[in-house]
Amino acid sequence: MGRLYIDGTFQDAASGGTAPVHEKATGARIGTYALGGPADVDRAVAAARAAQPAWAALSAPERAGYLRGLAEHLQGRYEELVELSVRETGGVRAKAEDEVSTSIRQLLISSVQATENAGDILPPYKAGKLSLSRAVPLGVIGVITPWNYPMNLAMRMVAPGLAFGNTIVLKPAELTPLVGGHVLAEAAEAVGLPAGVFNVVTGDGPEAGWALADHRGLDLLDFTGSREVGLAIAASAATDLRSIRLELGGDNAFIVLEDADVELAASHAMIASLEFQGQTCISSSRHIVVREVADRYLEAVTRRVEALRLGDPMSPDTDLGPLISEGQRDRLHERIVAPSIAKGARLVTGGTYDGLFYRPTVLAEVTPDMPAFTEEIFGPVIPVTVVDSEDEAVELANRHPMMMDSVFTADLMRGMDVAERLRAGEVHVNDAHARHGAENQMPGFTRRQWIGVQRTPLTLPDWASDPAGRR
Ligand code: NAD
Repeated sequence: MGRLYIDGTFQDAASGGTAPVHEKATGARIGTYALGGPADVDRAVAAARAAQPAWAALSAPERAGYLRGLAEHLQGRYEELVELSVRETGGVRAKAEDEVSTSIRQLLISSVQATENAGDILPPYKAGKLSLSRAVPLGVIGVITPWNYPMNLAMRMVAPGLAFGNTIVLKPAELTPLVGGHVLAEAAEAVGLPAGVFNVVTGDGPEAGWALADHRGLDLLDFTGSREVGLAIAASAATDLRSIRLELGGDNAFIVLEDADVELAASHAMIASLEFQGQTCISSSRHIVVREVADRYLEAVTRRVEALRLGDPMSPDTDLGPLISEGQRDRLHERIVAPSIAKGARLVTGGTYDGLFYRPTVLAEVTPDMPAFTEEIFGPVIPVTVVDSEDEAVELANRHPMMMDSVFTADLMRGMDVAERLRAGEVHVNDAHARHGAENQMPGFTRRQWIGVQRTPLTLPDWASDPAGRR
């Protein structure tokens, strides 16, 4: 702990600095992380560059073998890692179990994909030609991750990236550098991943993060985090057209139509809006409910919310743990909940906190001009907005960028129709937070190279084959 992992060795940051890592529920110190900076990022990118050709030259099954080794290593430490995740993120045990097991599954899926997706044989565009495409690694990839699912979101990039022959420099979030970075470096060392293939530079966002985001030696910078930082990275990348991929926040809609099973919708709302205290990018942060069922829905949601148990996330009796930081809490309370109430939202339950423990909150009579409607909430708050029709629900939902929406209705075909009208990347009908096959999506960590082969002798025109003899 407290060290970077560069070129196959644990080493101090050039600055020599370290900072503490805290257990979120108690504030106890559980470790340290190294305060990396530009010089460390330079060394890590150089190591990744030097290692990449040999790593890409391994056969796909050989790389897959390393990935399976990483999966086995994490599986062997399952209990320890679940506990570390609970302490470091403040999420309850079920969330931590999901995080670790999804990371392991991601490694296994990527190990298979790498051996199966070498390329395609394409229909030739003319007789006698052979047309191929092959998957070519991009090269060196920088990965910057947030604190909410630190291991999982790192693995979502690292596993396919490595599987397809890229090398990686990872900068985990400073609030969760252990489970999101250090543990993965330990796994890489334990399985003997060749030096430089996977590097971890911990540190704070504006220093280590920006040094990586702004680095000219990467072939791709992959960033998962806030819209604000994403915008700064995009602006910098635009100055010399560097490749970036951004996974940012969402202001996801949860629509309840008048024919919905209200109790079912309210049960799903608990997970959709309150899992990990609502601190997920796919959290439902706008509940848009048709008037006919609005009172019943509010009652069903409030009944469930008031029964939730807030406390030590390690305890099996706890439903919700602490927020990740005072900064997140203050943003939630002072920029979203309090100003929305000041603008006329009705506080049905919650709205108070003790340290990082924020009582799950229901806000009614939320209108589209309130922060509870316009901002990504990222906390345990369910804001309910009432509409008069399905059309109005769709129109309101589509006002904001969304990642994962839900629609509840007794009529599946109607649900499908509404889903098609929603501008979200993923929509669930009578379901929420389901992540249908997210790990199976193969992120763009290769480029396609198209290859054309002339299989049979071709009769070229005179001007090409014998210009001098042309009449
Ligand atoms: P954040 O943008 O503050 O931090 C994310 C990462 O960027 C951290 O590693 C941080 O150190 C780094 N960073 C911070 N400032 C930086 C800078 N100036 N230059 C370079 N790097 C910098 O976000 P967060 O608070 O950690 O995470 C919450 C946000 O992430 C929410 O908006 C959430 O919706 C989003 N998120 C998106 C997804 C997704 O898959 N789309 C997943 C999880 C979280």
